[in-house]
Amino acid sequence: MHGNKGRRVRLGRAVVAAALLFLPAAWLASHAAVSDPGRTGDPRLTATELRWLQAFWPVLLFARDAGLPVDVVVQPQAATELPPLGLAWLDGRCKFVLSLRGNPEVPATDARIAPEIFEAAMQLMAAHELGHCARHVRGEWLAADGLLPVTALQREEGYADLVGLAWTQRHHPSLFARVHAWLLAERELSRQRGPVHDTLAWAQLASRADRFGTRSVFAEADALWRQGLPGPTEAPGAGPPGGL
Ligand SMILES: [Zn+2]
Repeated sequence: MHGNKGRRVRLGRAVVAAALLFLPAAWLASHAAVSDPGRTGDPRLTATELRWLQAFWPVLLFARDAGLPVDVVVQPQAATELPPLGLAWLDGRCKFVLSLRGNPEVPATDARIAPEIFEAAMQLMAAHELGHCARHVRGEWLAADGLLPVTALQREEGYADLVGLAWTQRHHPSLFARVHAWLLAERELSRQRGPVHDTLAWAQLASRADRFGTRSVFAEADALWRQGLPGPTEAPGAGPPGGL
């Protein structure tokens, strides 16, 4: 019991820091963890939210140091139709939106991640969203002309996955193969739900850590991403090439 209490205090302190850096002021008064991850409407962060936020933490610090305008939004209501983590672009700022309460995708996501790669996989997810953020900030989001919307979105997802993998190569090199295999399995699942997250062509391009160099994770992702784009002679909307 004491151990749990001590752990909860440490988690609470971590989230106070998160609130100071990224969260709206309303969250400052509500930093204690509650034990039921499915609880909705409670102003306190749940244990699951704290665990996920702590895992994302290095990516959030990186975003701050890189000058990216990132805020964290924790949805207090049940959001069963949303992905656990998503990115919204609002008034020139990137909102990392956590929709974990009452969301069946949360335990499902947890169950698909081996404990040894939990932090690395979570950071890949956060870096993926940071990839979206960088494209918004640069004014490049969906900026390619003549593409079907689904193809344009698919390309954005491909770029974001590569930012996530570049982050993995940079920060968890010894786990790269395992995290990459986890991502491929996730994308196989995504593909069954629709084409937007069918980024396998790009993920397969980045099958080895040495496909990434030493520039920023965004620059390294961009170089590989362009290799995976169709050539200029292909019709717009053709999507990423197969067989890569
Ligand atoms: Zn995405």
